[in-house]
Amino acid sequence: MTSIDLARHLESHGLGLVQDENKFRSVVAQRPLKRGTVVITSRPLCNPIIFPTHRSLHCETCFRTRGKDGGDTAATSPVLSLERCSVCKKRYYCNRDCFTIAWKGWHRWICSDKDRDDLDYEMLKMIVMSIERLRNGSFTESSDNDTGAEDKSHHVNKETLAMTAYVFSTLMGHESVADPGTLAQYKTIATEVRNQLLASKFSFKSQTSSGAPPSVDELVQYLCRFHCNNFSTHDSQLFTMAEGTFPVGALFNHSCRPNAIVMYEGQVQVVKALEDIEPGQEVCTSYVDNGVQRTERRALLKEKYYFDCQCPRCSDEEDKVFKDSMMLAETKRTEEPSGEETTLAHTGFRILDDLIEGDQDGPPGLKVDGEWLTKQFGTIVLPGARTLQSVGPSIRPPSNFTRASFTSYVLHSLVPMILMGSPLDQYQQQLFEMYEALATTPHETPKPFTTAVMTNATSFFNTCLEHGGSWPLASKIGTFILAMYLMIYPRHHPLIGLHCFTLAKSLWNDMEGGLASVRQSHDMLRLSLTILKVSHGQSGENGALVTEVETFMKTVETELGF
Ligand SMILES: [Zn+2]
Ligand SMILES: [Zn+2]
Ligand SMILES: [Zn+2]
Repeated sequence: MTSIDLARHLESHGLGLVQDENKFRSVVAQRPLKRGTVVITSRPLCNPIIFPTHRSLHCETCFRTRGKDGGDTAATSPVLSLERCSVCKKRYYCNRDCFTIAWKGWHRWICSDKDRDDLDYEMLKMIVMSIERLRNGSFTESSDNDTGAEDKSHHVNKETLAMTAYVFSTLMGHESVADPGTLAQYKTIATEVRNQLLASKFSFKSQTSSGAPPSVDELVQYLCRFHCNNFSTHDSQLFTMAEGTFPVGALFNHSCRPNAIVMYEGQVQVVKALEDIEPGQEVCTSYVDNGVQRTERRALLKEKYYFDCQCPRCSDEEDKVFKDSMMLAETKRTEEPSGEETTLAHTGFRILDDLIEGDQDGPPGLKVDGEWLTKQFGTIVLPGARTLQSVGPSIRPPSNFTRASFTSYVLHSLVPMILMGSPLDQYQQQLFEMYEALATTPHETPKPFTTAVMTNATSFFNTCLEHGGSWPLASKIGTFILAMYLMIYPRHHPLIGLHCFTLAKSLWNDMEGGLASVRQSHDMLRLSLTILKVSHGQSGENGALVTEVETFMKTVETELGF
């Protein structure tokens, strides 16, 4: 396995790996990648480790969820039940086959570690065993890696385990700049794992290993590489459940405004295009939540991945280029009288980060009750179906931003363009105009749109949903959250699609709202589907969620007499 094989593998997916002075290397599109297509899939180097809190919820082998539809084979019941390993009583499996795969593959080597809940320890052990078994040829390729998520229209090379291990060996671990305390900790773990493997019956029979596990130094390297490149896997609802090493997926660089996203089908990682990507453009995923404020986000990236983010959202250079081009456009527009002086410190996405930075806007020790919530969100007017369909230059910012006018302005600015599938440059133009309006128009309170406000609103929304009965208020809060999400996240981010689905259910439950509520519910489902078809697609477990939204939509349409 060599870099040429990797280049071929990527090429078969329309991708190229180019050396990059600042970023080490970048994955670049070589042919147009349509939004919603699978860019590439990535398999785990070893079985991802389910979080201790989630172990009883998922089969350790196939990751299917307890209580969910058990699949279409006659042998499985419609509702999936799980049984745990009778020895360690810690790992759960959906059937005998899954248990056997786990037992032969890895479980018998970790079953005895039952009192240890240490992700690093377990992960390192699994990585060492995977690499060794690959080296000594005892790993047989199984065909269970086919998720059906591959884009069938192109001939694509399948990722072999040798490829997975090769790519892992090329990943950056940043040992030289790692914190000495952390390295010392890794060394302790590495020594323990090595001793434990030496004492076990696990055989190191490959030529490279010459009868013993890799050296402690090598194991520390594995841990460093794991930490700089690991992923938290999630289900179709974006609930995280496990931690894993997906080397091919780790080749993609980070952007705080990504054009691709990482999804999962069972244990296979699926990288999907969120927007149309042109040949020559870099394909980026996001390593952090895009809703995190600039300072914190950049600190996180620096601490965990050792880089200063220079993405289009973070970079001062991009900000400057954008500003200059705007100035140029401004000076060309001579006949137009210049408006009030812009006092904005930034442009484009940098305005967004200024808007969301800061704490919540309420007074300290604020008492949140139904009365307060109604006062804050009660005036939000849910958009009517017709207004959401019309798009044009007619969207003018209000003279003063309240939660209600903000919600309505953002939704009317962006939702029609998403539903129509407007080109990205047009959408971004609209987005930037919206940011400027939000930053220059007076607000009711100093910082009404920070992520802290959004977090609070989300917890109010969930409380309303749990208690039921307060559907009208829940729907209003949910609509405000939608506006915040649209302001912050890429338009086809699954978080937005999933939120629209929840909001649609809340509107549907609102009996007081009558037919108007049902229509709004329908609007939200349309938006949800437009987004989820890009992020989730039509096949596999993620596709099942899209089908769920479609089924619900049919019910709503029946009610509306469609
Ligand atoms: Zn299973
Ligand atoms: Zn066990
Ligand atoms: Zn960034």
